[in-house]
Amino acid sequence: MKGKNLLKKTVVLTVALAIAVGAAACGSKKDDESKSKKTYVVGTEPTFAPFDTTDADGNIVGFDMDLMKAIGKNQGFEVKFKSFGFDALIPSVNAKNCDIIAAGMTANEDRVKKVDFSNTYYDSGNSVLVKSDNTTVKGIDDLTPDMTVAVQIGTTGADKANELKKQGKIKDVKVNDGVDTCLLQVKNGDVDALIIDKPVADRAVKSNKAFKTVGETLDAESYAFAVAKGDKALLEKINKGLENIKKDGTYEKLYKKWFEGK
Ligand code: GLN
Repeated sequence: MKGKNLLKKTVVLTVALAIAVGAAACGSKKDDESKSKKTYVVGTEPTFAPFDTTDADGNIVGFDMDLMKAIGKNQGFEVKFKSFGFDALIPSVNAKNCDIIAAGMTANEDRVKKVDFSNTYYDSGNSVLVKSDNTTVKGIDDLTPDMTVAVQIGTTGADKANELKKQGKIKDVKVNDGVDTCLLQVKNGDVDALIIDKPVADRAVKSNKAFKTVGETLDAESYAFAVAKGDKALLEKINKGLENIKKDGTYEKLYKKWFEGK
């Protein structure tokens, strides 16, 4: 009898233990999964609406941020956003101060020597923005050797303005950290024009009657996400995620949110 009881107790205990261990294992597996989700730091320059901007609470938001979040969700990684000067983004990704650049960055020959670009996600190009009461500048060819042009530091727009200056077609280039400062200079009449990406100029015009864009869009450019040179595994995830969110309608939905909404 004693032996039978002991056996019974042992069986009960073993079963209880098995359940407990099983439950614990399940619990820890779940915890591990969320903990092991890698978080990548995404570097941006948030004065470039609607791609990269800030909301009323100062959070970094925009089309680029939503795309990166959706790509992360699709590929099983988390993202957090960090602000840099536009000209500091490439050095920062290579110094591992961020893992990914999402900043309306044009993939061009110069930059491809320093970073690896994803497939492109938006076709763009520079444009000329002036004060809406400007009657003389109707396009880039109307800029004259007495004029000053504002640009954002390190951008393709800055390259273009520097080229014009070198050719003697404009007097000076005012280089600023943010697009917000460039716009203020146009508004105040400190500069004659701003060379900036067309979709960003369009957004500024839409939200402020003081501005208009003139002329054709300049050279065609396309935006891509960037990673440090040789970071193949991450680049592959970004490309796969981008392809998937284009296929499943997420890209389209986000495009509508940022370019057709409001
Ligand atoms: N597309 C432009 C460039 O890559 C401007 C980007 C930006 O100002 N965020 O230079």
